Amino acid sequence: MKKTRILATIALMLVLAVAFAAAGCAGSKDVVMGTSSGFEPFEFVDADQKVIGIDVDIANLIAKEAGKDLKVEDMNFDSLIAAVQSGKIDFVAAGMTANDERRQNVDFSDTYFDASQVIIVKEGSAIKTAADLVGKKIAVQQGTTGADLAGEIEGATLDNLTKVADCVTELLQDKVDAVVIDSYPAQKSVEKNAGLVILSEPLSVEQYAIAVKKGNTDLLAKINKVIAAIKADGTLDAIIAKYSSES
Ligand code: GLN
Repeated sequence: MKKTRILATIALMLVLAVAFAAAGCAGSKDVVMGTSSGFEPFEFVDADQKVIGIDVDIANLIAKEAGKDLKVEDMNFDSLIAAVQSGKIDFVAAGMTANDERRQNVDFSDTYFDASQVIIVKEGSAIKTAADLVGKKIAVQQGTTGADLAGEIEGATLDNLTKVADCVTELLQDKVDAVVIDSYPAQKSVEKNAGLVILSEPLSVEQYAIAVKKGNTDLLAKINKVIAAIKADGTLDAIIAKYSSES
């Protein structure tokens, strides 16, 4: 009898231990957003070195929907997919273009922003259209769709850099002839630096979405619910407008 009770106690303790361990994984207090700051207005650091921006505001609403606190992990753009695959982060909100190549490694939410890849040159540059980029030196952000597109330009030499600001600095210093990056960060860069222009003809049209680990249907459903709601009630437009007027 006594032995049975001891065994029953041990069994109960084991069940509780497994239950707690499971809660520790699935029921963590935080939901972790992976992003790459320096991509204004989607993610950039404020005076207190805090990452803010359109993606952070959307991510906060996702955390609320999931009943968790938002934690932000800031890293290089080209590390984000591996980080979500390994579980270091729960989702990527980084102005990430949804495309089929990335779909092999992650699942994407519904899209939330229409973007394009544009060409920035110095005022008065001989480069007037995409065709003029043949054989030129181009600064791009490593691991981005802009880098892929620029890589297809005949004879072009690429300077693969980590941040948008590094690309713009290279252009200002005449180390490259052009920069290929996303339209909105390009606009912010041109506003901040005199003597730069964005060519009117974009290189591509793309759409941003949030990425989760393949098969994380639970989180993806919550993200899509938030995206649908903020598109429908005007919150998304308000968030975008908020960062359009700030600089
Ligand atoms: N939209 C581009 C991409 O997905 C660049 C994103 C970024 O640099 N944050 O590759």
